Amino acid sequence: MMTLDELKEGQQARIAKVKGRGAFRQRLIEMGFVRGQIVETLRFAPMQDPVEFRILHSEVSLRRSEAALIEIEPILQNVAPGKAATSAANALSSSENGEGYGCHKTATNTGTTIEVCMVGNPNAGKTSLYNALSGEFEHVANYSGVTVDAKSIGFDYKDYRLQLTDLPGTYSFSPYSPEERYVREHLLHHTPDVVLNVIDASNIERNLYLTTQLIDMDCKVVLAMNMFDELKKTGAHLDTELLGQLLGMPVVPTVASRHEGAASLAEKIVAVYNDAEPHLRHTHIPYPEDIETAIRKLQETIWKDPAFSDMYSSRFLAIKLLEEDTETLQPLRDLQTFKDLEALAQAEIKHIKSIFDEDPAHLMSDARYAFIRGALREAYTPAATPSLQKTFTDRLDSVLTHRIWGFPIFLCFLWVMFQTTFTLGQYPMDWIYDGVAALCNGLDQWMADGVLKDMLLNGILRGIGGVIVFLPNILILFTFISFMEATGYMARVAFIMDKLMHTIGLHGKSFIPLIIGFGCNVPAVMATRTIENRKDRLITMLIVPFMSCSARLPIYVMLSGVFFPKHAGNVIFLIYLAGIAMSILSALLFRKTLLPSAESPFVMEMPPYRRPALKSLCYGLWMKTKQYLKKMGGVIFVASLVIWALGYFPLSADGSPADISQSYLGQIGHFIEPALQPLGFDWKMGISLLAGISAKEVVVSTLSVLVEPSQAFTPLTAASFLAFVLLYLPCIAVFSAVRKESGSLRWPLFMAFYTTLAAYIAALLVFNIGGWLL
Ligand code: GDP
Ligand code: MG
Repeated sequence: MMTLDELKEGQQARIAKVKGRGAFRQRLIEMGFVRGQIVETLRFAPMQDPVEFRILHSEVSLRRSEAALIEIEPILQNVAPGKAATSAANALSSSENGEGYGCHKTATNTGTTIEVCMVGNPNAGKTSLYNALSGEFEHVANYSGVTVDAKSIGFDYKDYRLQLTDLPGTYSFSPYSPEERYVREHLLHHTPDVVLNVIDASNIERNLYLTTQLIDMDCKVVLAMNMFDELKKTGAHLDTELLGQLLGMPVVPTVASRHEGAASLAEKIVAVYNDAEPHLRHTHIPYPEDIETAIRKLQETIWKDPAFSDMYSSRFLAIKLLEEDTETLQPLRDLQTFKDLEALAQAEIKHIKSIFDEDPAHLMSDARYAFIRGALREAYTPAATPSLQKTFTDRLDSVLTHRIWGFPIFLCFLWVMFQTTFTLGQYPMDWIYDGVAALCNGLDQWMADGVLKDMLLNGILRGIGGVIVFLPNILILFTFISFMEATGYMARVAFIMDKLMHTIGLHGKSFIPLIIGFGCNVPAVMATRTIENRKDRLITMLIVPFMSCSARLPIYVMLSGVFFPKHAGNVIFLIYLAGIAMSILSALLFRKTLLPSAESPFVMEMPPYRRPALKSLCYGLWMKTKQYLKKMGGVIFVASLVIWALGYFPLSADGSPADISQSYLGQIGHFIEPALQPLGFDWKMGISLLAGISAKEVVVSTLSVLVEPSQAFTPLTAASFLAFVLLYLPCIAVFSAVRKESGSLRWPLFMAFYTTLAAYIAALLVFNIGGWLL
């Protein structure tokens, strides 16, 4: 097949195919380099590189290496008489190679050649499959490759010519042996259209390691699950359909030695080539959070220089930089900005090493195996015969993910988590509370009355105090969650909850953010990051606010203590249950209406159990604390100042602060009072709810400034108020977290509207039904 770089000056040709990847390919297509288009070589640069071409009436210059990725075919019409001879000769010589392109209805196919590369572990059955495929179909050409041991064969399937290359067997693409290096070079720089990954079904886990690297490389893959007869014989079961969904590529069971599966393999190859395969999905191997962060940072730099993304996909390049794979990076060394990129990568590697005491490369191969284990856990049922050598992870898993014991163990863990969070957290909470109070007292005595003092005491200190007071709770909760993550228990929780979560249309992974939501909705929204599917992620984010966060607890405690003193515990429990019920209903509703999904399953990684590294645990805790303080601190600080100012101004005639009822805040309260009357609320409750948007604990403090709860509420209005507080918009910090995680303002706005509407309806029902009952 001729490529564009071989076209002589003044010659024209028709484009047959554009190879290459990502941004580079996209750019070529944008400029008009698409199949069927006529291109002419205008001139070569003095050093023969780059070359200028005419396409679609414009002149475009490409590097030779880039032009080499564009396959061309000769045209016989519309060529200048003197040049017709050469073009015809070209056409002739290429049909002699068995690659004649049927642009003149002479050949049986439409002239589309699909280049297929076979890769797989040694002895997976590649050569047998190669023979099976060529035995099944009439082959056109067969020649041996020049290097190492690559045979290639072409055969016709439907309207296509499949050009199959059998590459040497490899376990991975790390350049340890000449074979591995050769295969890798072939995949990266020869860019086949489709990679046929041959897997030995009797040793899936190890064989799939190569597949994860193909995923990293961003190749289009068809997976041949070979030796399927062996797998069946052992009594094991593999759901190839499900595995295909999880890996994002079609999986075809084959028995190469008996020529079984060749036809469906060919069909899948064509489908994948045409992007018509339903299982073909862009998947990523999920790496640990810190590595993903590093990858993102590197990608941002990579995108700045198109020369990088022309060569490799940005994610692949970032991964290779972190793995310090010098050989893959070699072709980039001449590029100007490569030094900066490498320096950035080194800084990230150092950072990751300092946290985990481990090379990123090592961590990444662990993550690949975890990904594989997760996929197999769902799609593969091993033979019933128990293996004698169970690993520690297997033994622990047989208890922690046990059909019966899994749940009670998890519930116990949850109970301990909440108990510790609230009882142990109470001590530092009291200290902080006392400390802030003492500070306020001191300032109160030391400073003269005035705007400044009032602002400092009631605006700033109260605001910041309100944030910091919950920090111990949140730190303890985070410690538990980090512990669950670091040991690998989190993945098991997601696994055992998966079935239950499925009934409300969500994935097991959604359960974790919901649990975190009981502590604080902000980290809960951030935790939705681990959910791969965007729609699942959005639904989870939207129902998180119904998980009653710890900041709402003071309100429940205060009101139910006053009005339902005998049943306070039950009332609070009921409130939490109502929140959970509301989240389930909403999830079902969103799934049916706003965010219907085509159930795209994804792999839950199953990392081996590990003793958590203290350093990494502390680092994670510190990062989360920082995020929390920054998010909460900034927003709450401003919001409390605003609320303070609204309640303080306008000053009355003698310069003293306004009576709260006359203040701007009071005016707003009076303004919204008619809307709240059907719920039984007066203007004071209204403004405390408004103030609560800055942070839920502000409801209590505002309320206590304005009224004596035992006088302002009746049991009925207290109940209605509780329902409203449970459901309405969580707080500004959650709002901004949702904005950040969903990437648009649309979703937090929708959430604000939806939650507040739900709260209004619920309070209305409580007030009216309750009034009717009493
Ligand atoms: P390669 O190293 O990947 O090229 O593997 P080969 O094609 O040379 O196959 C290795 C061995 O596995 C040969 O003895 C084949 O006969 C055998 N083999 C290949 N495919 C199958 C299969 O589907 N089932 C069984 N039972 N054996 C197979
Ligand atoms: Mg072989």
